[in-house]
Formats: sequence, C-alpha cells, structure tokens
Amino acid sequence: MSLTAGVVAVQGDFREHAAAIERAARAHGERADPVEIRSSGTIPDCDLLLLPGGESTAISNHLQREGLADEIVAHVAEGKPLLATCAGLIVACADAGDERVEHLNLIDAVVERNAFGRQRDSFETELGVTGLDEPFPAVFIRAPRIGETGDCEVLASFDGHPVAVRDGPVIGTAFHPELTDDARIHGLAFFESPDG
Ligand code: GLN
Repeated sequence: MSLTAGVVAVQGDFREHAAAIERAARAHGERADPVEIRSSGTIPDCDLLLLPGGESTAISNHLQREGLADEIVAHVAEGKPLLATCAGLIVACADAGDERVEHLNLIDAVVERNAFGRQRDSFETELGVTGLDEPFPAVFIRAPRIGETGDCEVLASFDGHPVAVRDGPVIGTAFHPELTDDARIHGLAFFESPDG
C-alpha cells in the first residue's frame, strides 16, 4: 500500500521534498505517492504532510486564504506526521515576533527569523541530530533559529541554539534537509516512530 504524501507547494523546494520523501520511503521498505497541495480538500486524504521553506509571511497568508491552515492543524490533531522546514518551521511555531506571520501553533516554541545574520546568510554544517547515527549535512539559508521552547524535544542545536525540534507528530528544522541526497530527516519525520 502506498502512503499519500502531501507537499504544500506554495513556495520552496517542493519537488526536491517530494523526491526525498520517495527516497526515505524506499529506504524504509514503504511507498509514498507525493501530491502537490495548493488549495483545500486534499490534505484530509494525506497520510503525511510537508511544509517547505520559502518566505514565511507569504506562506502563512496563502495557508490562511486557501483554508489550508485549518486542514494542517486538523491533520496534526489526528496524530499524522508533519515535517516543517525553515519558513515552514516559522509558520508551524507558536510565535516569531512578527505580526505578518500567522502561526499554526503546532510546535511549542518561539522562533527568530533570519537569525544567523549576514555573514552566515547561507552555510552548511555537519549537525548531530537525535535519532540519526551519523551527523546530517545541514544547509541553512537565511534560516531562523529556535528560541524559547515549551513542551517539545530539541533534536539538534547549532551555536547553542535549537535548530531542530519535535513536538508530538511534528518535526521542525531551521535547515533545508531536501537540498542534499540525504533523506534521513524525512525518514525520521515520516517513517520512524519516536519511541523506536
Ligand atoms: N528567511 C525566510 C523567512 O523568514 C526563511 C528562509 C527559508 O525558508 N529558507 O521567511
């Protein structure tokens, strides 16, 4: 049986994410059929969901306008997995201190947009991630970092700040796991149970 994998396709690397989900599924002996999501009505049929990066204000506007925000919240309320990356993480969190971003409040944490400053606008680093045996090649692009966290698990930190967290069925990363061939973050989010 094949899992329906919704990839919100407003902005960002949705094709790369779809390919990474397929690779991660194969690595776990499963099959996933990616579907691009732009309007409401499809998310309720999805087994798993991915919210890519891009520009968080634009993405959050689109989600609210198209009725996707409520569907994403309902998806998570059913315990189904969501991976939110970079701007997706910003939208999924509780607060980014920016009133133009409408938060889904699915990750009990606050984020700071564009937090790594000019010199580190974009960079790559080998990151230790809870649940992965080997470091992950993490690509950061005008990335947020996670500030105060509530009831969620920090999976990875960089420079003393959390950059990957898990809150129940939701994993959020400040980096872009779709930009390398390594699909282990997608595997962790979708095909491995948190309890091992
Ligand atoms: N800087 C973007 C924002 O704040 C996020 C960047 C990204 O998704 N790569 O929305």
